[in-house]
Amino acid sequence: MPELPEVETARLTLGPLVTGRRIERLDVRRPEAMRSHTPAEAARVVAGRHVFGVDRRGKTLLVHLSGGWTLAFHYALWGVVLVRGAVVPDASTAALLALDDGKVVEFRELQLSNLNLYRTAALASMPALASLGPDPLDPSLTLARFRERLSGRGAIRNMLTDQSRLAGIGNLWALEVLFAAGLRPGRAVQTLSEEQWKRLHQATRSVLRRGIRAGGEPEFIDATGRRGRFRPAVYGRGGQPCRVCGTRIATGRVGGRPAFWCPKCQR
Ligand SMILES: [Zn+2]
Repeated sequence: MPELPEVETARLTLGPLVTGRRIERLDVRRPEAMRSHTPAEAARVVAGRHVFGVDRRGKTLLVHLSGGWTLAFHYALWGVVLVRGAVVPDASTAALLALDDGKVVEFRELQLSNLNLYRTAALASMPALASLGPDPLDPSLTLARFRERLSGRGAIRNMLTDQSRLAGIGNLWALEVLFAAGLRPGRAVQTLSEEQWKRLHQATRSVLRRGIRAGGEPEFIDATGRRGRFRPAVYGRGGQPCRVCGTRIATGRVGGRPAFWCPKCQR
């Protein structure tokens, strides 16, 4: 499931390939992929517009177009955005965006992921975006504000993945952050010490940044077709030795989702 580091990688690789280009046409081949408009309406809105730039909000890519429109791609379970010289559409092709340099942006393999066209001026009030908490990498998210966002009662993993508290962290990156912070996923957030809050705040930023530098987790595919190169420390490694201490990685469920942690490195 693409999360912040993967969507940021998509933004970083897609941006330079589409910014400044004119869109010749949009071909929505799977109507259910475009939620806000019919394929014909969407094609009319987008054709002839220039791409101003590509932003990210949580797990949503925002492609800003001339004339006050934004094409938003909400990543849900899975989806690939690829820029190619030529595309022979197949059954997995959801939509194609033809650019004036002959390249094509292909949206494919969508699993609940979807496209929407929004008025750029109204973006902040769109329900899917309005409910999101701050970005964990936002420089204004100080330790005090971070702590305030995540405070309450419950497992720390559930707090980290609650999109209304922080935007963009899912199960994989929450578990990696918690390993780096030395905290178990099921640990009650109300029991964290001053020092542990500090470590969690730092680990959240450093692990997500590391994930972006690695191009995301290994299944993710960026706009150039390159796979992610991040090696998870705990995620999906149940029963295997911890890379720090050699203890077998434990597995369990937290908040109904699979969880992985090192029983020795994490408290
Ligand atoms: Zn360990």
